[in-house]
Amino acid sequence: MLEKIESFKIEISSFIATKTDEVETFRIKYLGSKGLVKDVMGEMKHVAADKKREFGQLLNEFKLFAEAKYEELKAATENGQPAAAAETLDLSLPGDPMRVGSRHPISLVRNQVVSIFQRLGFAVAEGPEIEDDWHNFTALNMPENHTARDMQDTFYISQNPDWILRTHTSSVQVREMEKGKLPIRIICPGRVYRNETISARAHCFFHQVEGLYIAENVSFADLKQTLYFFVQEMFGKDFKVRFRPSYFPFTEPSAEMDISCLICGGTGCNVCKHTGWVEILGCGMVHPNLLENCGIDSNKYTGFAFGMGIERITMLKYQIKDLRLFSENDVRFLKQFTSAV
Ligand SMILES: [Zn+2]
Repeated sequence: MLEKIESFKIEISSFIATKTDEVETFRIKYLGSKGLVKDVMGEMKHVAADKKREFGQLLNEFKLFAEAKYEELKAATENGQPAAAAETLDLSLPGDPMRVGSRHPISLVRNQVVSIFQRLGFAVAEGPEIEDDWHNFTALNMPENHTARDMQDTFYISQNPDWILRTHTSSVQVREMEKGKLPIRIICPGRVYRNETISARAHCFFHQVEGLYIAENVSFADLKQTLYFFVQEMFGKDFKVRFRPSYFPFTEPSAEMDISCLICGGTGCNVCKHTGWVEILGCGMVHPNLLENCGIDSNKYTGFAFGMGIERITMLKYQIKDLRLFSENDVRFLKQFTSAV
């Protein structure tokens, strides 16, 4: 029976009608009160009870198939076109233009940063955006009531105040250190959250890339050389770099790295607030407390860490003045990056 239905389907689909009376012939032959569909439906009574459901579905499909063909033939002949004509194709006609999208500027810069560090042997590590207090704060030398937590206010989940939206991707570094597989050489790109008022310069979410290198005898010279290489690859060979002392709870000593202004080249402009320098990242030697918190012997191992905001680098690179543009999905803005690589 199944084979029969299949052969009827082939017969139906190859039916060609050029005039309305031929369409009528089709209707009587297949869909009429003594038509083939009715005939096939009649077979239902010979089907075993347990197969009735399956077979019923099949018959119903067959009926719809024949009806669809009838509608198609009817529509085609009413327009004065034989049904077969619908299948002819003029290959000489111009094609429909296909709209090609482009990568989001944040993705462009993220990929570029990742690929530079991958060339230095850093592997990409990722972790959850919903974190617990330990991985986001406490393990990073920011115990409860530490003042540095004030600078990183975030969103808490009322059901469980231990769960938060991560304020940085350093939590991924903690997770990697806890695995205890040394040496560690990773970069952690990802989205992070802060409880900030949304403006041209701040948002409640943004993206970071953080890096971590832990091994024996890692020094500040290694950190500087790694970041020099990054700046040269990212912005070009002509940029000057400087390190300024800074404070982070998770590194000691800590520094912020500036590069000579991309806009004025160091002579002074609005972007660099007339200093000739723009800040691009924070870095430092991993604090021994962090290593111990994660079960790593701080007498044997040392390491460096750095972190940068992808939005900030993107804004400098493409001279974008408003952070909100990145998440508004305005096609007019995004289209400008079609040819950017
Ligand atoms: Zn400048």
